[in-house]
Amino acid sequence: MLNPAANGTLSGFSLDEAARIALEVAAHPNQPVRCPRCGAWMHVTAGGDGGRRIWILRCDATGRGLVFQQQLPGARWHRTPARGLPR
Ligand SMILES: [Zn+2]
Repeated sequence: MLNPAANGTLSGFSLDEAARIALEVAAHPNQPVRCPRCGAWMHVTAGGDGGRRIWILRCDATGRGLVFQQQLPGARWHRTPARGLPR
């Protein structure tokens, strides 16, 4: 599930635009994304930890930006001991 981050980090885009960008980035994590407002390529910074990925996107042309995160599927299982695997 993709969630635009809480107040203050979503700036300049409507929720619809933010959702569209988030879906596009999640589908193609390593590809650049165009700003839905002006069509310029957005600057993308990706990060995260074992349980989630975080993207920070900024349009240099219009100064708009947004932050969103994706909970990684299976993140809760990371600390579950593996069973039946070769040692
Ligand atoms: Zn723009």
